[in-house]
Amino acid sequence: MTVSRRQFLKSAVAGSTVVATACIATDADARGNMEMPEGALGLLFDSTLCVGCKACVTACKTANGKPLATPPELPYLDKTRTLSPDALNVIKIFKDGKATAKDRAEDGFAFMKHSCMHCVDPACVSACPVNAMKKQPDTGVVTYDKDACIGCRYCVFACPYDIPRFDYGSAAPEIHKCQLCDHLWKDGGFSACADVCPTGATLFGPVIKLKAEVARRKALKAGEATKFPRRHVEGQEFTKEQPMGEYIDHVYGEKEQGGAQMLMMSGVPFDKLGMPDLPEQSYASVSETIQHSLYQWLLGPAVALGGLMAVTYRTVRSEDENDED
Ligand code: SF4
Ligand code: SF4
Ligand code: SF4
Repeated sequence: MTVSRRQFLKSAVAGSTVVATACIATDADARGNMEMPEGALGLLFDSTLCVGCKACVTACKTANGKPLATPPELPYLDKTRTLSPDALNVIKIFKDGKATAKDRAEDGFAFMKHSCMHCVDPACVSACPVNAMKKQPDTGVVTYDKDACIGCRYCVFACPYDIPRFDYGSAAPEIHKCQLCDHLWKDGGFSACADVCPTGATLFGPVIKLKAEVARRKALKAGEATKFPRRHVEGQEFTKEQPMGEYIDHVYGEKEQGGAQMLMMSGVPFDKLGMPDLPEQSYASVSETIQHSLYQWLLGPAVALGGLMAVTYRTVRSEDENDED
């Protein structure tokens, strides 16, 4: 039995149509950013209130069983100290020129907190193949399960904020990142960094209330006297009345990557404070859409092969029948 060139081409075209139908990912396949849970908990960091004392850095270490730094943390200094398996929270200083005025981009200085943003649609969770990184459905806190982790470090590579740290030096390596001090909640505690902050620069609470506090600050004029909540946004502790700083028109974490449960206010543009300029569409949604398409592309050839085999079988059978006639 032979297959004519015309029949082969016919078979190939029929097969290609099956391939094309199977492989095209439509807009309906693309997923959008995830939504923040109603009960989301988070932090508000206000750089204009931060005095660089680093009490939050030490409190974070103590609350999470990490060794204290040697040499000890020094207030104000230290642009280079960065996150590590032993440091889940660092305060960095930005300086420009003579660095004479706080919260000014030119010839000024400002402080910045660096810790997990608790993304609404976290890339680390999306990248983790074994569900060791999890976004908790009720609080939205992104937690890590060392027993589930296989040490692939996909979360390290996926995080757009360069947060998770892997302790290469350990015999039983783990990922280390802020989990919003969720281990303190059962005893009525909350994030140690917010709990200890003397100025209210780091504030804990439901994200909905933190957003309301952001809106309140934005509605005030620079220099206007106000009190700032300290420790917990729903608590009763406030700073003394003091003049408002001047904010840039950007609340970091509101939109980046589909939003985060840590929000940041500042008087200095965030790129100068070392924060990346990120799109509103989360990398998780982009990569999962591509994965979905690739999945289809993997299914496509299988379906196409089936299509080709069916068409070829029909062609060959009909030729065999013709040969028998
Ligand atoms: S956030 Fe608060 S505790 Fe941390 S360095 Fe700033 S002022 Fe100090
Ligand atoms: S900041 Fe990084 S580690 Fe934290 S939730 Fe977002 S992607 Fe995950
Ligand atoms: S919430 Fe806890 S773990 Fe996270 S930065 Fe603050 S003190 Fe550290």
